[in-house]
Amino acid sequence: MRLKKANFEAYLVGGCVRDLLLGREPKDFDVATNASPEQIKQIFRNCRIIGRRFRLAHVFFGREIIEVATFRGSDNDDDSGQHVVHEDGRLLRDNVFGTLEQDVWRRDFTVNALYYNIRDFSVVDYTGGMQDHANGVLRLIGDPAARYREDPVRMLRAVRFAVKLGFTLHPDTERPITELADLLRGIPPARLYDEILKLFLAGYGLQTYEMLQHYGLFGILFPQTEHYLNLLEHDFPRLFLIRALDNSDKRFADGKSLTPYFLLAAILWEPLRETAKKHMANGENEAIAYQNAANEILNKQLRVTAMPRHITQAMRDVWFLQHKFTRTLGSRPYRLLEQPKFRAGYDFLVLRAETGGAEPELAEWWRQFQEADEEKRKIMTSPSEAGGGHSKRRRKSTRFRNKARPNGNE
Ligand code: ATP
Ligand code: MG
Repeated sequence: MRLKKANFEAYLVGGCVRDLLLGREPKDFDVATNASPEQIKQIFRNCRIIGRRFRLAHVFFGREIIEVATFRGSDNDDDSGQHVVHEDGRLLRDNVFGTLEQDVWRRDFTVNALYYNIRDFSVVDYTGGMQDHANGVLRLIGDPAARYREDPVRMLRAVRFAVKLGFTLHPDTERPITELADLLRGIPPARLYDEILKLFLAGYGLQTYEMLQHYGLFGILFPQTEHYLNLLEHDFPRLFLIRALDNSDKRFADGKSLTPYFLLAAILWEPLRETAKKHMANGENEAIAYQNAANEILNKQLRVTAMPRHITQAMRDVWFLQHKFTRTLGSRPYRLLEQPKFRAGYDFLVLRAETGGAEPELAEWWRQFQEADEEKRKIMTSPSEAGGGHSKRRRKSTRFRNKARPNGNE
């Protein structure tokens, strides 16, 4: 590595060392160095400095990005406890450069604080991380409660790493979580969104969900879901959520792509359904009730976890397809087939049907309709022909015909 040649220290650090020690392929590589961002930039032409509060260098190798960070000193080393420095006229709180020995203490878990020296292939371990790694233990560096207060997201990281690595939380690291869970409410929604993607879309969604539940963290991320799941008399909505998570983990294991909107739509489905029911009880028709409920549910969720607009739009598409699916007569089914989120909406319907939240006949009707040729489709959607429309909801489908046609761009 070129940093080495330029006589700087360079270490692989964090997740990549931890994962390499487990014989796993790291997601990405982080490098810690005593070179400053400016010096890094001089050495690597293919380098970009990012971040204001916490400046890092991204060095590009083809499609790979290696994150190169300069050793940081910790806030505690400063007698004011504030450690605010000026640089280029800006206030930069976290850009106090330090030594490796200082850099160690700002890291979260001991197993994330192993430094692999690329000069002599040795591992620098100030915190007992090698031992914890061998024992499969996640242990926060320093006083756990203080470290969670400093950054409550570490509670989510604890769960994420425990599940991903199959490690157990050290009792001292585990103990404060339930009590401090509320602190997560102070985290900016954009950061929590990034965090839930890592929690739920990395192939261990179901286990993660259960562990988050266990520590009272799930209800902070998805308060509406928690509320409605707790009100339940029946268990099928919970079953639906579990099945959705399990399916997406299986997709991940099969190397298929995972989209955030499908799972998010599943997580918020029960609140949406219940809220839409309330609206319908107030006399709103189904399409309007679902639109209003979606606005309400999403607005509340956005205060906790920001979500990009294309994601919330896709969630709406999947949700609104659910009531549209009940209309199986005439030209509507053909139009639904053309909708961009049809496939996701159909998968969602199948999941509901499998867990008691929708009629299996309806899901089966849509399966057949997709496979059917023109002739069969005509018969399936014809009210006059025997077998037209799916059996049970037939009357309901006709009832909704011509009534409050949902507008196309919901
Ligand atoms: P992943 O496999 O998810 O990338 P990672 O351990 O590399 O896991 P990153 O979020 O990429 O996690 O962070 C890289 C390293 O930076 C961590 O290993 C840890 O040492 C440090 N770090 C990251 N976030 C925090 C935090 N919130 N508090 C303390 N240290 C952190
Ligand atoms: Mg990483």
